[in-house]
Amino acid sequence: MNSFVILGTIALAGIVFAFIFTQGARKQLLNLQKKNVRFEKLLLQKERELAQANGILKERSKESNEVARVLVRRDLELTETNERLRELDSVKSEFVSVAAHQLRTPLTGIKWTLNALLTGEVGTLDKDQKKLVTDGLAATYRLIELINDLLDTARIEEGRFGFNFKMLSLAPILKQSIVNYAVIAKKKGIQLILKLPEAKLPLLKLDAEKIGIVLDNLIDNAIKYTIPGGKITVRATLQKEHVVLEVEDTGIGVPKEQVHRVFTKFFRAVNAQLAETSGTGLGLYVSHNIVEHHRGTLSFTSSEGKGSTFVVSLPLVNQR
Ligand code: ADP
Repeated sequence: MNSFVILGTIALAGIVFAFIFTQGARKQLLNLQKKNVRFEKLLLQKERELAQANGILKERSKESNEVARVLVRRDLELTETNERLRELDSVKSEFVSVAAHQLRTPLTGIKWTLNALLTGEVGTLDKDQKKLVTDGLAATYRLIELINDLLDTARIEEGRFGFNFKMLSLAPILKQSIVNYAVIAKKKGIQLILKLPEAKLPLLKLDAEKIGIVLDNLIDNAIKYTIPGGKITVRATLQKEHVVLEVEDTGIGVPKEQVHRVFTKFFRAVNAQLAETSGTGLGLYVSHNIVEHHRGTLSFTSSEGKGSTFVVSLPLVNQR
């Protein structure tokens, strides 16, 4: 009987223990379920956020696609505009060429007529008549110079500025330029000095006519922009792998703030326009291009009111 009571007590204790245990387990399960619900909620929220972010991304992607399309369209438009500008530029160069050619022929006629009048071929002129014809001739020369500059510029822009290179010395071309300008310099009261090295200068690959244009232009400028009583020194030297030509003057110089524009088309410095009314602003642009075609450099140093030195550096043949 006692053993029944003991067994019954043990069983009861077991049942109580099992009850307590299952209660604990149930509590834990409930806790876990609660946590699960929380996680599910969190997951749902994250999913919603992800869906939202996805939507925004899609929107942005649409927008960037639109921007890309606009960019491609703009690129096309720019290419077309560029092409049109190039065509217009070429039409402009062609127009300048044709117009300049048409102008040059009658001007050459006028030049010969005025020259004939001056040399007395059709009778002698009195002092006043001579002065009128001389002024007319000077203006005609200026016009011819402008037309030649315009033609050279148009040829450069159309890529038709042909070169004819030969192995030559710079010295005779230089001497010819000095001869061309000796009278003009003397008339203006300017000393024009040529300094050549004692030893012969080496032969260079040159286009004599084109280099002549450069030298004439530099000497012409030096005379134009130097006041009477000034001095111009033209110097050629051999320096390492280059023949260097310098045209140094004691003229008006180039204003510091305009120095960077000197080789651009149609540029004329303020002081130059005041000192000398004639000028196209094309000579140095053309000269720069010619020197570059010789694989050389054209540079200058200048001090306003004191003078300028223009320097052409031409490479020896084996340096090409
Ligand atoms: P321009 O026909 O006006 O002389 P250039 O192209 O030969 O045209 O020269 C451009 C400008 O550079 C000139 O108008 C002048 O302002 C300046 N310049 C050129 N050479 C000299 C110089 N030796 N002294 C001072 N300024 C110069």
